[in-house]
Amino acid sequence: MVLVTDKVQDNSTDKVLNYINGQQAEASGTEGQVVYNPATGKQQSYVTFSTTNDVDQAVQAAKAAFPKWSETPPIKRARLMNKFLSLLIENKDELAVSITAEHGKVLSDALGEVERGIDIVEFACGIPQLLKGDFSDQVSTGMDNWTLRQPLGVVAGITPFNFPVMVPSWMFPVAIACGNTFILKPSPTDPTPSLLIADLMKKAGFPDGVFNVIQGDKVSVDALIDHPDVKAISFVGSTPVANAIYTRGASNGKRVQALGGAKNHLVVMPDADINKAVDGLIGAAYGSAGERCMAISVAVLVGDVADKVIPLLKQKAENLIVGTGMDGASEMGPIVTDAARQRISSYIDAGANEGADLLVDGRNFTVGGYEDGFFLGATLFDNVKTNMKIYQEEIFGPVLGCVRVDTLEDAIELINNHQFGNGVSCYTQNGNTARLFGRQIEVGMVGINVPIPVPMAWQGFGGWKQSLFGDMHAYGEEGVRFYTKQKSIMQRWPENIQAGAEFSMPVAK
Ligand code: NAD
Repeated sequence: MVLVTDKVQDNSTDKVLNYINGQQAEASGTEGQVVYNPATGKQQSYVTFSTTNDVDQAVQAAKAAFPKWSETPPIKRARLMNKFLSLLIENKDELAVSITAEHGKVLSDALGEVERGIDIVEFACGIPQLLKGDFSDQVSTGMDNWTLRQPLGVVAGITPFNFPVMVPSWMFPVAIACGNTFILKPSPTDPTPSLLIADLMKKAGFPDGVFNVIQGDKVSVDALIDHPDVKAISFVGSTPVANAIYTRGASNGKRVQALGGAKNHLVVMPDADINKAVDGLIGAAYGSAGERCMAISVAVLVGDVADKVIPLLKQKAENLIVGTGMDGASEMGPIVTDAARQRISSYIDAGANEGADLLVDGRNFTVGGYEDGFFLGATLFDNVKTNMKIYQEEIFGPVLGCVRVDTLEDAIELINNHQFGNGVSCYTQNGNTARLFGRQIEVGMVGINVPIPVPMAWQGFGGWKQSLFGDMHAYGEEGVRFYTKQKSIMQRWPENIQAGAEFSMPVAK
């Protein structure tokens, strides 16, 4: 059991280290970043950024581990993953506390994040089945042809601050189970959970060099993308960085999957159950302080439904319980950093200046006893227009904008015209509306009466348009395909080879 307390330990002199070849080691850069507890605004620890040389050490360790690891039978890789799964389950409280301490999200939400990561580890335990190839008997007389999937080599994952356990878990369990060795470059904003994961991987018995962690910024990311021995890059973060990483990685001849930002809409149809739709909106807009790539930031209110929804939304947003993540009563924690809080506040300024109706204003919000924490209250806008900055751009904070439209067709057109296409939801009690919406909407992940439709471990996660660069979604069977390359083998034995050279294109005989 982990002690759950509001008090912060004074870890301010602690350093968050790299993990290379089974050992923690300090990065050798001269720059770094303070890691804060967002609830108190106090320094938790400090992370030193890695240099190109540190990255090269990690790549060399992962490269050295690859031949033996990739030759390890998948069932044996799966058994280690199973051990890791048990350790994760045993240590999920500790992981959740470390997330809340550096990210700020409420503890129950942090635990939910860990659980969703655990799902993918469990999926990766089925790797022998997932790696089965196809076999064609007798493609020609005495000849067989089959396909198999082989690992790529050293692969890297670059992850955002908002899910320091779940998003890395979209990547490394599948990559490693497929036989690759892995380098994680977590966000420097909340880097500690990456080292807890490394510790559990070691305890599970994964050989040194199979899983490595590099702390750092753009320097280490660029070093990974440019390193000739890194074969694939998985990235999750903001759209401009996703686009840049995709372009640079692809031009270096690497496989890249780069998941970007979002602006997720939730449509409320006139026939929807209004109370359930409002609950869906409140949880999805303000849960994790809106710092989820699947958070709902736009409510699309169809027909006369706005007159019923808006008063309820206003009342619930005003009464949202905002406090520290460790306080079990809190529904929403602080914003991750003071800089993020200022950025979000400036979006609220812009929305008010552009003429949207500011119904609930979360600026200048404090929590008693935590006056230095990075808190914002819930913010609600009505009559948001599509030409406004608060509609077009990702705010990534607890700000919900309501747009009013006349019909379902208008709602679909509005959403399809948006640059992002990560998640979307529609609340309705009409099956035909649900069916039409699901088929016509140009968004990667769709919920019908489900506000945050994050696909399960075996389905795969990915948006469309500016929310994903690359061909394949994260985890699920798409993940297995991303982390392996297909090989086709055609085989016959000497007694089936006819004498004489053949000069025509071989065909079945
Ligand atoms: P970010 O883009 O600032 O950082 C993501 C990662 O990239 C971090 O590891 C960071 O250190 C690194 N990085 C930052 N700037 C870089 C640069 N110029 N060059 C190379 N690397 C760089 O994102 P964030 O603020 O940590 O996370 C929030 C963003 O992530 C939001 O836009 C959110 O929508 C997005 N996100 C998307 C998904 C998804 O599945 N589509 C999931 C989670 C978060």
